[in-house]
Amino acid sequence: MTAGEGLAARAPYRFCREIEQASGHGIMAVQYMAAALDLKPLLDDWVEPGRLEDFRRACRRYGLKVLPDVRFLNVRLEDVPRDVVGRDRLTSTVAYAAPLGGREGQIHVYVSRHARLLRHGMWYPLIVKGRVIHTPYTDTLRYGELLGYPDCCVRFFARKNNWSRYSYLYEAFKNTQGHAHRLCNPFLKDTCYSYIYHMPCSYRCRATISAAGGLRARLNRLEPALVKEIDAAASGPFLVLYERDFLGFDGRLRGDELEYNDVFRLQPWSGPDPLLEALRRGSRVRLKGRRLEIGRGAVTLRRLRLPLEDWAPRFPFIIEFGRG
Ligand SMILES: [Zn+2]
Repeated sequence: MTAGEGLAARAPYRFCREIEQASGHGIMAVQYMAAALDLKPLLDDWVEPGRLEDFRRACRRYGLKVLPDVRFLNVRLEDVPRDVVGRDRLTSTVAYAAPLGGREGQIHVYVSRHARLLRHGMWYPLIVKGRVIHTPYTDTLRYGELLGYPDCCVRFFARKNNWSRYSYLYEAFKNTQGHAHRLCNPFLKDTCYSYIYHMPCSYRCRATISAAGGLRARLNRLEPALVKEIDAAASGPFLVLYERDFLGFDGRLRGDELEYNDVFRLQPWSGPDPLLEALRRGSRVRLKGRRLEIGRGAVTLRRLRLPLEDWAPRFPFIIEFGRG
């Protein structure tokens, strides 16, 4: 994987391909495969209104049932009027709710082999009549279980997923004993190169290794080329600032220095990106506390201080994932 190729697989996989084509994006491919193999009880996704019928048909071919939930009209936080009640608690999902039937926006859907699970889905925060409506906290926890996430990770998430106090990814890093395991890599979950879609409680979580390992073994028989790509992408290394700001490298960690040939973002990024630009000019980087030193050969190119910053605290770290 190189810069700009983060989102869609290059391997010509066939399993669940029709679902991905109907949904219009390739990001959830492995999650659909897991659901079709009955290794994931429930998943949710977004589909354009005009594609919904094709999507349903494609899911049916793999024994998956679909429940359309609500239509999301996504907006930028800056465009939400100040008088919307609860506006200050909106984080990554900023959308107005609209009834099904219209043509704009994206339809939120639940997908499962089991009809009885579809009605247990959870909604995201949505703006309804000038007010942000949240899901009840108890439902949030239960939803983690329905999605097939390990209990230890659901419990850890319930404690640490507080953006104003913690950097969740750093909390999981502190909770990791030994080497990070590639089956516990959450940094690729918004690309198709991930066996997991949850935030593990540590980068060596036993339950996650067991579940992701089971899926990997099944996929290795069905789509070996895709598995090879996922394994190659999963090792990293990654420089992590917080949940919405991390970078992947084609390189190796040697001691406390990361040597690399290429660096890229794995999430959509809008606006200027001075950190990526500075890293692109270098070939090695070292992190000490909050100080980042970028160099090429014997020359130090930049010294940067990574600030704690606003409402989502940033605790930078570098991580590399191994096989065992
Ligand atoms: Zn866990």
